[in-house]
Amino acid sequence: MARRKIAKRADDYAQWYLDVIAEGQMAEHSMVRGCMIIKPWGYGIWERIQRELDDRIKASGHENAYFPLFVPKSLLDKEAEHVEGFAPECAVVTHGGGKELEEPLFVRPTSEAIICTTYGNWVESWRDLPILINQWANVVRWEMRTRLFLRTMEFLWQEGHTAHETHDEAAAEVQTMLDVYADLAENVLAIPVIKGRKTAAERFPGAIDTYSIEALMQDGKALQAGTSHDLGQNFAKAYDISFQSRGGEMEYAWSTSWGVSTRLIGGMIMAHADDDGLVVPPLLAPLHAVIVPIYKGEEEAAALREDVDGMVTALRAAGVRVKADVRDHLRPGAKFFEWEKKGVPVRIEYGARDKAAGNVVVKRRDNGEKQIVPRGDVAGVVAALLVTIQSDLLARARARRAERSYVVDDYAEFRSRIVDGGFFHMRWCGDVSCEARVKDETKATIRCIPNEGDEDAGPCVVCGKGADGVRAVFARAY
Ligand SMILES: [Zn+2]
Repeated sequence: MARRKIAKRADDYAQWYLDVIAEGQMAEHSMVRGCMIIKPWGYGIWERIQRELDDRIKASGHENAYFPLFVPKSLLDKEAEHVEGFAPECAVVTHGGGKELEEPLFVRPTSEAIICTTYGNWVESWRDLPILINQWANVVRWEMRTRLFLRTMEFLWQEGHTAHETHDEAAAEVQTMLDVYADLAENVLAIPVIKGRKTAAERFPGAIDTYSIEALMQDGKALQAGTSHDLGQNFAKAYDISFQSRGGEMEYAWSTSWGVSTRLIGGMIMAHADDDGLVVPPLLAPLHAVIVPIYKGEEEAAALREDVDGMVTALRAAGVRVKADVRDHLRPGAKFFEWEKKGVPVRIEYGARDKAAGNVVVKRRDNGEKQIVPRGDVAGVVAALLVTIQSDLLARARARRAERSYVVDDYAEFRSRIVDGGFFHMRWCGDVSCEARVKDETKATIRCIPNEGDEDAGPCVVCGKGADGVRAVFARAY
């Protein structure tokens, strides 16, 4: 038996998270503090996320392009709120080619400055709009407290940047992309999310509105998993995206930006992994299934080889990403343990006894269920099982969130219960001082004001003054 190396969630959640990543061979720290080396298994999951999202981005009418890593300081300075929000966490290049630069270059913390400037050059008339572009890139934010995937100094993401003729069109774009992110989270990552609007205090610097998807992790903390910003005309004015309107007037464009990052992988881990390691949803798994032949010595191995190769072929033909683990230096138990920690959705065991009976053993990673399957049926059974696992993971995450979602009208009750985590649906009057008090006293923030919620007027949970509209969602967050 290999030694257990993963802390239990109940004992030390933070250590469990790091152990799951290390033992699942997802990523490790680099020698530069806060930077992350993403290993092939972790990167393979990111590639699946990219592919699923990229298809959706293109299906909703966008194209990909690429903009530079360096942003001249003077560009970033143009949008006052934006630079104030981001400058403290920017890395700045002051030297190049052995000389001090005339103008320092910021390493992009996000790309509004460079992209909006470019759009300004591209746009002359209303006929040049809309511009609907996305880029896949890395960005750098000088974070002081980092955690693999959730918050790293350099991270990978996509950032969409669009420019429109009217505010209505831009506002619709913001919601379209929020819907795309929610679809990705729920139907690919199997993480249920709440779509909603951020309060002014939690907005993207320079935006007139920020929307997000918010997920609940197994420890009861919220994770902001994607954001979509209505930038109004703020960036168009700062970076001069102006155009001749249909009526012949000069007008400023309306812009949006939206992004999700490698943080989603942290969300996937904290939504599904268990005390034995990762549990990867089938749609994200670089491998859906691993066949572990059980043999001793070359003669037994040779007797199984043809059947194993046949199963690999049949499974691949059924769309299953599969490989046979035929490493001779490892015992089957060690292989089981390794693939379990990596969260491969299905394991297929096949030994001499199974061969004699014409069967294989199929085991699910998510709930540990084993079934005996006729060898000839394995491709169909596993393909169907992957669909079941994907939907079971979402159902389980939904049930967990429902268990920890509370409608609360009493501030004292909230204060005593927030220590155990969860989503608290509470009335809020809209006053920043009530929001700030909650944060000071409980470390909880308003995650969002849900897009979908019943009208529920009544007194603010903090100050008792009237609050109309839907209840805000309060939680402690990553
Ligand atoms: Zn209030």
